[in-house]
Amino acid sequence: MDIHEHQAKDILAQFGVPVPKGHLAYSPEQAAYACRQLGGGICVVKAQIHSGGRGEAGGVKLCKTEDEVRAYAADLLGKTLVTRQTGAGGKTVHRLWIEEATDIAQEIYLGFVLDRKSERIMIVASGHGGMEIEELAETDPDSLVRMVIDPAAGLVDYQARELAFRLGLSGKQIAQFVTTLRACYRAYRDLDAMMVEINPLAITGAGDLVALDAKMSFDTNALYRRPQVEALRDPGQEDPREAMAHDHGLAYVGLDGDIGCIINGAGLAMATMDMIKLAGGEPANFLDIGGGASPERVVTAFRTVLTDPKVGVILVNIFAGINRCDWIARGVVQAYEEVGLTLPVVVRLSGTNVEEGREIIRTSGLPLISADTLAEAAKAAVRARPQPIAAE
Ligand code: GDP
Ligand code: MN
Repeated sequence: MDIHEHQAKDILAQFGVPVPKGHLAYSPEQAAYACRQLGGGICVVKAQIHSGGRGEAGGVKLCKTEDEVRAYAADLLGKTLVTRQTGAGGKTVHRLWIEEATDIAQEIYLGFVLDRKSERIMIVASGHGGMEIEELAETDPDSLVRMVIDPAAGLVDYQARELAFRLGLSGKQIAQFVTTLRACYRAYRDLDAMMVEINPLAITGAGDLVALDAKMSFDTNALYRRPQVEALRDPGQEDPREAMAHDHGLAYVGLDGDIGCIINGAGLAMATMDMIKLAGGEPANFLDIGGGASPERVVTAFRTVLTDPKVGVILVNIFAGINRCDWIARGVVQAYEEVGLTLPVVVRLSGTNVEEGREIIRTSGLPLISADTLAEAAKAAVRARPQPIAAE
């Protein structure tokens, strides 16, 4: 789960990272007022969307007067920004962060990520910050410094100092850098983050460190024990399909194809998506309906899959262990009635109460396509797809 820059700065500041003063604004008037509260001098107006690359997309602007702040805020609010990270659909700006301007002498890149290879939190840093990490890795890979943190010892000060030296920091910056690293590490670990990124961590004209941008994303599987993090969720920035699924407790990931999938078990869902691809189709989503799915839950899964207008056929694939095939079958029939389904549906059932389940499908009188194996089901779904216009 991602959060906004202003939220990440708020969290990191609580852990001890130096950040500039700023205020949130939802209207041009509030933006102008925020500028006045900051002393009325030069301000930076920053679009709050769940994406980096806002600067080059016109979402960050230095404003010299309160009137400039008001005008730029009016221009930005309600606008959809397309950055190199958002995809073509972009993200809509509903709030702004108005911040006191900083005099930048140098920009540092600082990131904390989960390194799956070493199974450790890893720090990535570069003395040439400002640009995105992907770009940095391409254009200036030698400037990147990586350091793995031992979970038993935690981040130790000599490591942090070594990193500071390798970035060429000196004087008071070294102590400030150590404090910043420690704060980021604690925020990462204590809040079950997956990523903390400060880019740029600026060195000011006076030689001090300050976080000018901040990004945090969190492990959704740990949100149950981080209600204070969950509260920062902004559904307005999420894929509407995923937001709806989340609200119903379904594990769902939106994809680009036209075959809607309702499956139990993450492993089976992955295997089914592979089989669909093998059969020449494209899945529209990953959806794990979970164990012990009631007919009502099946109906909810149908509704969720159908929020995607690209879906042309639905494939239900259940291997019932904890689940019961007859419940799933009843859910499918109920979905037809309640949702007013018109799309072809392929059903493959296996496991507990499979005979009862198949009987319900057979005698339902509905145009359901039954399949015995996963491979058959995938092929049937590809065949049942509304035919695309044939290529010349
Ligand atoms: P991003 O493009 O989404 O990563 O947004 P950032 O918050 O990183 O802002 C983009 C760029 O704007 C930064 O890399 C800085 O160069 C610049 N910027 C941000 N805040 C300030 C500021 O207070 N003063 C100055 N001079 N530049 C700033
Ligand atoms: Mn940035």
